[in-house]
Order: sequence, then structure tokens, then C-alpha cells
Amino acid sequence: MRIILLGPPGAGKGTQGERLVKKYKIPHIATGDIFRAAIKEGTELGLMAKDYMDQGLLVPDELVVGLVRERLAEEDTAQGFLLDGFPRTLAQAEALDAALAEMGTPLTAVINVDVGQDALVERLTGRRVCRGCGSTYHIKFNPPTVRSVCDKCGGELYQRSDDSVDTVRQRLEVYRRQTEPLIAYYQKQGILYTVDGSRDIDQVFAEITSYLDQLA
Ligand code: ADP
Ligand code: AMP
Repeated sequence: MRIILLGPPGAGKGTQGERLVKKYKIPHIATGDIFRAAIKEGTELGLMAKDYMDQGLLVPDELVVGLVRERLAEEDTAQGFLLDGFPRTLAQAEALDAALAEMGTPLTAVINVDVGQDALVERLTGRRVCRGCGSTYHIKFNPPTVRSVCDKCGGELYQRSDDSVDTVRQRLEVYRRQTEPLIAYYQKQGILYTVDGSRDIDQVFAEITSYLDQLA
């Protein structure tokens, strides 16, 4: 199963991705997570990505595409993969198609998680992430049992610096301009499936998995 989760920031890609990779036993490849890990480790990649991320802008295609190509060449993708947050531009989508064609492994489906703008702002500004295992919570919609403590690993929860109101608005605008055109791109390829991401987490998961299960 080779899947892309497409959708604006805050649509629930990470939340659904976490569950989907457990069910289908495939690696979760989230470019945002890769950049945040690189920043934490202080690598050159992290240094190059940080300014763009802080401003709510996209990291340049050249940096992202090479990284994903290398990741897809790793052995654990033999049974498939779930891409989350990539591609985000037409150039990235075309580069991904070329890489997958070379490898002879076309995409199974692109799941477009559709959520309205106002809900996205509330979801992003209330998001909390575990420093230990990266699990995602929401102060209102998906709170941890104990405030600021991860249910899964006991790690401390924090707020991403780009989840401030101003940066969120910029990221949503960048999505609209640069990423939304990918909906039409994959629709043309006949592999796009849109789910209503405004419903609760379990309902969205049920809809995605019932679609993917009937493809298998
Ligand atoms: P993305 O990876 O698309 O940016 P996340 O999965 O991190 O989005 O979700 C953004 C925020 O919204 C998180 O705080 C998450 O807990 C919350 N969230 C995710 N899915 C839902 C949902 N269906 N209903 C309400 N809140 C949700
Ligand atoms: P995310 O964790 O998906 O919300 O991504 C956080 C930030 O990482 C984005 O706002 C971008 O700055 C950067 N980023 C993640 N994925 C990509 C990508 N595919 N292309 C460009 N920038 C990206």
C-alpha cells in the first residue's frame, strides 16, 4: 500500500497517519517530522530548513525532494509507505511520480483530508505534541489524560513554535497557493479520494480504512 495523505495543515494527517501505519504496517514518512528532528540534532539540513519553517514558508523543493528519494530507497518501504506532508508543490509531485516510475512502484491512493479554514485555525493553535514519541494531542478535541503529559510514553507535551496564530495564517495561505493545486493533479490521475475530515477522529479513520480495504 503506497499512500499519500494530502490536506491543509491541521487537517489531521499526522493523527490519521499514526493510526494508519499501525494498521497497515508501513512506515510513516512525514517530511515535517524529518525537518524537526534535523533541527533538534543541529544538522546542516535542520539549519537550512529552520528559517523557512519559522516563517510558515515551504522549504525549497531541492532540499525536500532529495530527502524523500533517499528515504523511499530504504528497505522498509518494500511493503509500501505513507507520505504525510509530501508532496506540497507541483514540482514535488512530479519528482515523486518520476521516482516511483523509476522504481516501478506506483501510488495506490491519495487521500485528501478536507477541513474548513476556521476549524483548522482552532485545531492548530490547540495542538500539543509529545517531545518523547511525537504523538499529537489537542487541548480540547483530543486531550491527554493528565495535562501536558503523553498518554503513550509519559513524555512532556509542547506547542510547536509554528502553531502560533500568525504563523498558522501564513501556512494556510501557503497551502492554498502552493499545495491545493495537487488535488486537481491527482484527480486527473484517477487516484484521489476525498474524506470529510471535519468529523471526529474515529469516524475519519473508519472512512479512510473502509476505502483502502476495498482497494486491497
Ligand atoms: P496535520 O498533521 O494535518 O497538520 P494533525 O494530525 O497534527 O494535523 O492535527 C492537528 C490538530 O487537530 C491536532 O491537535 C489533533 O489532535 C487535532 N485533530 C486531528 N484530527 C481531528 C479531528 N478529526 N477532530 C478534531 N481534532 C482533530
Ligand atoms: P508539517 O509538520 O507538515 O506541518 O510541516 C512543518 C513545516 O515543515 C512546513 O511549514 C514547511 O516549512 C516544512 N515542510 C514540511 N514538509 C514540506 C514539504 N514537502 N515541502 C516543503 N516544506 C515542507
